[in-house]
Amino acid sequence: MTNKAIDLDPAGLPLRSLTEFQGWYADSAAHIAARHQVHVALESSLPEGGSSGLPGWCAVCEKDSTFSFDWLYSAPGKVNWRERLACAGCQLNNRLRLSVDVIRQLAPLSNSALYATEQLTPFVRILRSRYPTLAASEYLGPGLKPGTMRPDGIRHEDLTQLSFSDGTFDLVASFDVLEHIPDFRKALAEMRRVLKPGGHLVLSAPMSLGVHDHHVRARLLPNGEAEHLAPPEYHGDPVHPDRGVLCYYHFGWRLIEDCREAGFRDAAIRLYWSRRLGHIGFEQSLLVASA
Ligand SMILES: [Zn+2]
Repeated sequence: MTNKAIDLDPAGLPLRSLTEFQGWYADSAAHIAARHQVHVALESSLPEGGSSGLPGWCAVCEKDSTFSFDWLYSAPGKVNWRERLACAGCQLNNRLRLSVDVIRQLAPLSNSALYATEQLTPFVRILRSRYPTLAASEYLGPGLKPGTMRPDGIRHEDLTQLSFSDGTFDLVASFDVLEHIPDFRKALAEMRRVLKPGGHLVLSAPMSLGVHDHHVRARLLPNGEAEHLAPPEYHGDPVHPDRGVLCYYHFGWRLIEDCREAGFRDAAIRLYWSRRLGHIGFEQSLLVASA
């Protein structure tokens, strides 16, 4: 099987339910096995402690490039393809190159109105270089008025009560934030509200593609404290690098229905895999919802 035959469409393969995912998985067994062979061949040629490069085409640099990989952040014998494959040009890893590319596919004009639900990250600096009017914020804690600017220029927003007017943005980009919001359905409705008709939400969060229902790991009690229903999981937080932030959910396919109930016209989990574009490893996924 040629590489071209096993590459997925650069626009992603949209799937809308657990049933669709299971059908795709069963029908694609030969392709999935061929992709796995690509990973195994690259891993077996990678020396211990060494690094190697995968030649391809970077959609961010828009030119031929080489994506470097090594054993950093890996499990034994398994390269962490999602967090490696840094482009020789833009230095972005697999996950970040894909995010930038998908955002650019959906909002091709540099004067598009974008909102990113993060501000203190290198990713936002890259986005701002492409979208000079980008709005960005962090959640700075309870009791602050949404839209407040800290003296250092950091904007506070609460995704469950955004300060932006209806229909402000062409695209909202939210990466690994939704799982930290107890009332995530309210957050989806707010992100929908601030989008223009025809606008897009591009979102990532911990997803379990093998289940429909969400795994609720913690819930908020009336006294404001979290009750843990699973061993607490904390994720890195640029606002609180010392303690991280609690993860309330691992999402299942129910998230597609939640998007529709929040007012989105359509929503799908898009799967990505392309050797040419340096998006290899277990299929990368992003949720894209259309207003
Ligand atoms: Zn690049």
